[in-house]
Amino acid sequence: MDNDNRLKIKQILNIIKVSSLAFPAIAFLQYYAQIPIKNASLTSLKQQLVVTSILIAILVIYSLWIYLQSRIDNKTVIKKLIDPIISMSIVLLSVILTGSYQSNYKFLFIFVILFTSIECDRTTSIIVALLSALIILGIDLFAAPSSEVNTHFEDDIVLAFVFVIISWTVSYYDEIRKKHIVYLKELANIDGLTELYNHRYFYDYLSAEIENCKKKSIPLSLLFIDIDNFKCYNDIYGHQKGDEVLRAIAYIMKATFPKDTFLARYGGEEFAAVFSGYSEDKAVVEAERLRRAVQEYPFGNHESLPTGNLTISVGLSSYPLKAKTDAELIKGADDACYRAKFLSKNRVEAYSSILDEFHFSPEVITQIKTLIAVINAKDKYTYRHVERVVFYCTILADQLKLSDNEKRNLIYSAYLHDIGKINIAEEILIKTEPLTPEEWAILQNHPQYAVDIIKSNTALDEVKPIILQHHERYDGKGYPMGLKGDEIHPLARLLTVVDAFDAMTALRPYQKTRSYAQAIDELKHCSGTQFDPEAVKAFIQCVEEKNSERVV
Ligand code: GH3
Ligand code: MG
Ligand code: MG
Repeated sequence: MDNDNRLKIKQILNIIKVSSLAFPAIAFLQYYAQIPIKNASLTSLKQQLVVTSILIAILVIYSLWIYLQSRIDNKTVIKKLIDPIISMSIVLLSVILTGSYQSNYKFLFIFVILFTSIECDRTTSIIVALLSALIILGIDLFAAPSSEVNTHFEDDIVLAFVFVIISWTVSYYDEIRKKHIVYLKELANIDGLTELYNHRYFYDYLSAEIENCKKKSIPLSLLFIDIDNFKCYNDIYGHQKGDEVLRAIAYIMKATFPKDTFLARYGGEEFAAVFSGYSEDKAVVEAERLRRAVQEYPFGNHESLPTGNLTISVGLSSYPLKAKTDAELIKGADDACYRAKFLSKNRVEAYSSILDEFHFSPEVITQIKTLIAVINAKDKYTYRHVERVVFYCTILADQLKLSDNEKRNLIYSAYLHDIGKINIAEEILIKTEPLTPEEWAILQNHPQYAVDIIKSNTALDEVKPIILQHHERYDGKGYPMGLKGDEIHPLARLLTVVDAFDAMTALRPYQKTRSYAQAIDELKHCSGTQFDPEAVKAFIQCVEEKNSERVV
C-alpha cells in the first residue's frame, strides 16, 4: 500500500512537473521571439547559441539523470539534490533570459520548492528555498544598475520570504503526515496487550528476514515460546492476572534477549523470537537464558500451579540447517515446542527431523518425504497426526529397547500408515457427521491403498504388513482382515495404540479433545478388546514416565 501511494504521488507530481515546464517554455519562446534571426547581430546570434547549448546541456543531464535514477541508492544526497538543482537551473535560465532582475518569472522557483518539499525531507526543501531566495536576491544585487537595486531588492525580499515560508509549511505538514502514517503502521503491527509485534506482522517480517539472511549468507533462528499450564493459571486467578503474566513474559523477553531481537506475540499465550545471524547453538543458549529467567521471575500467586511456578517451553528451529523456507521454519519450531511440552515442559528443544536422525537409505527417505508432502498438501490434519505418531513411536521404541531394525520398521510404518488416505475423497476425510456404511467401507480401504502405493519398493517389504494391519483389533473385530491376538504383527499392535492415543488427544474441529489422562483411561478401558494389553501397558508407562520427568 505504501509503495502504491508513493507511486500515485510520483505520477501526480510528474504530471504537474511536465505542465509547469510550460512556464519556462513561454519564457524561452519570448526570448527567441525578441531576436528575429534575419536582423540578428553576430553577438546576439552567439548569445542565442550559448543559451540553446545550455538548454540542451540541461536536457541531456536531466535525461541522463532519469536513466541513472534507478541505479543510485535512494538515500544518497546526490539523488535528493539533483532533481531540484536541474529544475532550479531551468528556472534560473528563464529568469535571466526574460530580463534577469526585471523578469516576471522569478515566481517559477515556487514550483521547484513545492516539488522538493513534497518529495524530499525538510532540510533539503529548506536548502532549496534558501538557495532560490539567494539566487533572486543575488541577481538583483549584481545584475541591476545601482539606481534600481533597492526597488527590486525590496520586492524580492518579500518573494524570498514566501519561498521559505512555503517550503517550511509544506515540508512540516508532510513530515507530520509521514510520522502519523508510521505511527498508524506501527499500531496495526503491534499487539495491544504485550506491545510486541503481532501475529500478522510476524509472518511478514519472518519471510523478509529469511530473504535478507539468504542474501547475506547468515543463519537465522526462530524460537516458539509457550507458557506451561497457563489455562490452569487463568482458571485459578482469572484472566486479568493471566494478562499481567503475558505482559510480564513480554517484559522478560525484552530484558533477556539482545536489543535487536524481533519479538512477537504469536498466539494467545505463545510468543515468537527471531534471531538473525544466530545459528542453532547460539539460539539454544538464548532460549535457555529465557527459560531460567521466567522460572525465577517473581510472578506472585504461582504456588497453586502444578509445577509450583510459572514456566515456559521453548521450541526452536534454524535456517538454513533445519529449514529452507519460513513455512518449514515455523513448522520446525512448532514441532520442537510440542516435543518440549510432551517430554517434560519447562524445557528447550531444538527441532530435529526423525527421518534425518536415522541413517535410512536415501531412496526410501525420498519416497517417504514425497508421500508426506502429498499428504501435507491434501490433508493438514493427517500430516500433523503422522508427525506426532512418529514422535511417540520413537520414544516407545526406545522405551521397549527395540532392535535397530524393529525401530526403523516401526518408524517407517508410522510415517506411512495413513498415506492410503491420499486415495480417499476429502469429503469423507473431513466429514463431521457420522459416516454412512458406504463411506465407512471406502475409508476402511486405506491400509490396503497404502500398501498398494509402496508395493514396488522392496526395501519396505517388512513395513507393509505393519501398515496393512494397523486397524486390526486384538479381539478380531478390526479391518481389513479381522486378524486376532498374536496373528497381528507385534509392531502393528504398538502402532494401533499410538495412532488411537493421538486421535483422541489431537485437536479436531468435529471431535472433543480428550486430555492425556482421559485418553489413557480410554486405552485402559479398551485394553484386551481393541488393543493388545501389553502394547497398552508399554505405551502408558512411556507417557507416564515422560510426565513424571516434568520439573516440579
Ligand atoms: P500447556 O502447558 O500444554 O501449554 O498447557 P496450557 O494450559 O498452557 O494450554 P495452552 O497452551 O493450550 O494454553 C491455552 C490457554 O491460554 C487458554 C487460555 O486460558 C490462555 N490464553 C490464551 N490467550 C489468552 C489471553 O489473551 N489472556 C489470558 N489471560 N489467557 C489467554
Ligand atoms: Mg498454547
Ligand atoms: Mg501453554
